[in-house]
Amino acid sequence: MTRSCVVLLSGGLDSMLAIRIMQEQRIEVEALNFKTIFTCCQDQSAQTARDLGVRLTVVGQEDDYLDLVKSPQFGRGKGANPCVDCRIYMFEKAKRFMHQIGADFIVSGEVAGQRPMSQKRRDLDRIAYHSDLEDLLLRPLSAKLLRPTLPEREGWVDRNQLYAFEGRSRKRLIALAKRLGLNEIPTPSTGCSLTEPKFSKKVFDLIDAPGTSRRWDFEMLKIGRHFRYDSETKVIVGRDAAENDQLRYAHELPDATSTAALVPENFLGPQALVIGPRTDEAIAFAASLMLRYSRGFDPAQALVRVDDQIINASENERAKSLETIAMT
Ligand code: SF4
Repeated sequence: MTRSCVVLLSGGLDSMLAIRIMQEQRIEVEALNFKTIFTCCQDQSAQTARDLGVRLTVVGQEDDYLDLVKSPQFGRGKGANPCVDCRIYMFEKAKRFMHQIGADFIVSGEVAGQRPMSQKRRDLDRIAYHSDLEDLLLRPLSAKLLRPTLPEREGWVDRNQLYAFEGRSRKRLIALAKRLGLNEIPTPSTGCSLTEPKFSKKVFDLIDAPGTSRRWDFEMLKIGRHFRYDSETKVIVGRDAAENDQLRYAHELPDATSTAALVPENFLGPQALVIGPRTDEAIAFAASLMLRYSRGFDPAQALVRVDDQIINASENERAKSLETIAMT
């Protein structure tokens, strides 16, 4: 009887190898790619699935994913990345998908000891245990270092043809890829902005601010320059025409937490959003930030439209010198 598995496909070398190893053993493969609002455009999973001849399903996060970003149970990596919690979340989704399509087990390209945050042996065990997959989660690249799983014990998969890779070196993985006929070797990248120090700074700023941070607020971390005015108030300033359009669009959304949108009325410059209490001081500060990033205007004449109102913008020393929370 032909067995089938769901392989978590990131588009990276490890998941490509996991698929190829299963194909070598004549196991049917369904690829599953998990996307979050923090996954960036470097994701090559669609191309990889085409190259490997497997069907790909892409699943997104739900809002409960943000709860684990805000307070992960198993800590974070060097940035805001809660990798162990995130992997557990992914595998829970994968398990649901496995049941939906009637597959027999789950496969992942994790390599023991490769990533400090989520691939230490202890973390691999934790992830399998907490996602309730334990016996049905096969890691073919390190399987010989781990306890035999059900697919191995039942002979659906030949354990002798699995591997014992451990550690960070990619040399032996690349050699295996060549042996298995994979000629396009992707460069290593997590493709996840939560691992980036500058982006993480904005995530921590948002999490530490009082009040609730919703999906909208997390989405906005990808747009513009962010300035903290006070503990409750933040200003986002667009960096180019595309971001100005995005800010205007975001402000109109029903779940927006922005309280004022500022547009230059008689000069060329960026747009801005105020997030937090809509006080005169916060609006004057946001208008001054717009002037900081504008050229060729007369400071005495500069006007800014705030929703339906027009105000005089004036330069403010703090807005001139305040650092951005972090530039993306
Ligand atoms: S790098 Fe990002 S997407 Fe990958 S496991 Fe960590 S938090 Fe999740």
